[in-house]
Amino acid sequence: MRDLECPYCDHRFDYRGNPMGDEDESQEQCPECEKYLVVTSSLHISYRTHKADCLNGAPHDLKMSSTYPREYSRLQCTACSYYEKPTKEQLEALLNE
Ligand SMILES: [Zn+2]
Ligand SMILES: [Zn+2]
Repeated sequence: MRDLECPYCDHRFDYRGNPMGDEDESQEQCPECEKYLVVTSSLHISYRTHKADCLNGAPHDLKMSSTYPREYSRLQCTACSYYEKPTKEQLEALLNE
């Protein structure tokens, strides 16, 4: 049940688990093509994987979150758990929408 399937090369490999705690998202590296991917666990025993090009050299696909109040919005990557704070300019543009 713990087999993961690499979204890049379809190689199947054992999920080593996330010993660092109970986060529902972790990063794994495919032993076959050596690309990084994001593992999302749903329920307890099923896992799904999706491509995370940003972990393989591509830029993060950042989208502004819809946090309220909007001053606390952040730029969240749609592929992985990376985020960064928006610049002052980006925040002002958001607030002036
Ligand atoms: Zn692979
Ligand atoms: Zn990312």
